[in-house]
Amino acid sequence: MSFKIKIDEERCKGCYLCVMYCPKKAIVEGKGVNKKGFCYVIVQNAAACAGCKNCVVMCPESAIEIIPAKGACLPDRQGSASGGRG
Ligand code: SF4
Ligand code: SF4
Repeated sequence: MSFKIKIDEERCKGCYLCVMYCPKKAIVEGKGVNKKGFCYVIVQNAAACAGCKNCVVMCPESAIEIIPAKGACLPDRQGSASGGRG
């Protein structure tokens, strides 16, 4: 399963919470500076992304979007992957 990690560089304020909470090290500190003077983060390894959305939840600026590849679905954050109803 693959995901596209979309980062809005101009919204990012360089707090690096997404970097700290990404279990796959898919997002890292970048070297670029946005118009507000913040060092925004960049995608280092999109292929490693598990689609957990930790980064989305942690980002105080709503600067990250995780887009599943066509036909894929995001994992259940509650952890029940059985597909059952009970
Ligand atoms: S969705 Fe999860 S694995 Fe993917 S970049 Fe965000 S925190 Fe990392
Ligand atoms: S959590 Fe959001 S604001 Fe903070 S570094 Fe990541 S993308 Fe930027």
